[in-house]
Amino acid sequence: MSAPLAPTASTSHAQVWAALEALTDPEIPVVTLRELGILRDVRDGPGGLEVVITPTYSGCPAMGQIEDDVRSTLAALGIEARVLTQLAPAWTTDWMSEAAKDKLRAYGIAPPQCGSHDSRGETSVMRFSARAAAPDIVPCPQCGSKNTTEMSHFGSTACKAQYRCLDCMEPFDYFKPY
Ligand SMILES: [Zn+2]
Repeated sequence: MSAPLAPTASTSHAQVWAALEALTDPEIPVVTLRELGILRDVRDGPGGLEVVITPTYSGCPAMGQIEDDVRSTLAALGIEARVLTQLAPAWTTDWMSEAAKDKLRAYGIAPPQCGSHDSRGETSVMRFSARAAAPDIVPCPQCGSKNTTEMSHFGSTACKAQYRCLDCMEPFDYFKPY
């Protein structure tokens, strides 16, 4: 859709959603902020449009980046909106869409295992049979083997743990449930 945006005071919520639709996680470029559940809301506030984002892990350095991305995307389109960071309710990996989990897996990152229910009522194609007891049994995103082992509880970022598959021997990141 290439309908030109009319950057007026009456910019619609849909336009803002559309503008932000393409923004991806700085660390995981295959999933969008909306799919991750970071982009929470577009609403009318007392001073105009407000975009609400909720950080994933409070320690994630990516959050400043995400806020900047949202701001600059809106600014580039001439959309005036405040970006609000909402900390409560805290983000949970349950907010991640099934599509996002599939993309993570395709990207080589094992998605969080706690999503045994989905709040949006989507039909999930892939469902893990049981909630994993700690330590998590994390299927290898490459070959699907459950014969994996945790190498480091903190992988490339605090959000992820580093695992290795003992069948295909590939190391991979596990996006920890939260
Ligand atoms: Zn494997």
